[in-house]
Amino acid sequence: MTNDRKTAPEGAKPENVYCPSCRHPVRITVGRGHRDGHANLPDAGEVVCMDFGGACGEGTCPLTGRPGMVMGVRLAKSHLNDAAFQTIHGECASCHAMVALEMLDRDHAICPECETTNRYVFVDFEDGSAVAITEV
Ligand SMILES: [Zn+2]
Repeated sequence: MTNDRKTAPEGAKPENVYCPSCRHPVRITVGRGHRDGHANLPDAGEVVCMDFGGACGEGTCPLTGRPGMVMGVRLAKSHLNDAAFQTIHGECASCHAMVALEMLDRDHAICPECETTNRYVFVDFEDGSAVAITEV
């Protein structure tokens, strides 16, 4: 494994913008469309918020007018800030890898391996641990 995917794309300079929904400044970057061999990078002109938070997935992003979950998917696929996501351990329903699914909202999480958005439900065990059961 390398860290290449987590490196910010060359030339993408995040801008600090005040988010009225999150009530604090967030970092916004715009994809520059390096499509060849860089499928994980945002498309040209596609705004990615690097400070997607748990509450963002429930509503509409005031900075882009897009559903918050769309912003979460963009950030997850860009790998610009994987640390922004809470993760749940579970099996991806698409690629069947046991992964740390990145939570978009309380129903959806994205697989970091194949980028499939899974629906999930928590199953709690008697010993206090929990695992996510997923479906595509
Ligand atoms: Zn997967």
